[in-house]
Amino acid sequence: MSKAKRVCDRVYAVGGPGISSGDDCCVYLVDAGSELVLIDAGLGFSMELIFKNIKSLGFEPAQIWHAVATHCHIDHIGGLSALVDGYGTKIIAHQLDRAGVEGQNDQLTAASMYGVSLKPVKVDTVLNGDLEQMALGELSFNFVHTPGHTPGSISVYFDGRDGRVLFAQDVHGPFSPAWGSDLAQWRRSMQKLLALKADILCEGHAGVYRGDKVNRYIEAYIKRYQA
Ligand SMILES: [Zn+2]
Ligand SMILES: [Zn+2]
Repeated sequence: MSKAKRVCDRVYAVGGPGISSGDDCCVYLVDAGSELVLIDAGLGFSMELIFKNIKSLGFEPAQIWHAVATHCHIDHIGGLSALVDGYGTKIIAHQLDRAGVEGQNDQLTAASMYGVSLKPVKVDTVLNGDLEQMALGELSFNFVHTPGHTPGSISVYFDGRDGRVLFAQDVHGPFSPAWGSDLAQWRRSMQKLLALKADILCEGHAGVYRGDKVNRYIEAYIKRYQA
């Protein structure tokens, strides 16, 4: 039986620990009306299961016109090639993590840590700015550059019927010079996320937080990694 679940209006958890595989990051599907948007894709070995989960919710993977790579770690981007090859999905990522997504720098993806190799994909929409807005389907998505975990980490939010939904995948770190982590940048990024006052946080490994727990979650990590 599918373990996919509804998070809130328009948002579903379709992959991740307990849903597809413990090796996958949390994978979220956004129903933007005329198209679906996938936030990250997991390590890649469970894509068939993720597609099954999506179908169990009544959606078609072919409707995933865009997938967002929140950063270039392989547990987030390994599954993108299955989307591109199978459905022609267009990939959105930040310029500063592009070399990892496109397979030009294996160190950035942490692939060796997972003992796997990446099937790279081309980034179709390259983000450069501090905050970029893009209409996908019926929704207006906001892409916030939140470097720190990696140089090109991005957080994504939209305002919907259930309030502000924020996808901030690896706000908890970890941090490593091998993939360009920067704690000073990360602290500034966390302040940006707090200022968003999101109602729902869809996190990259820890699942979903709501209400007061959103900023408390972020603040706990700021405290843990304070200067
Ligand atoms: Zn990561
Ligand atoms: Zn991660």
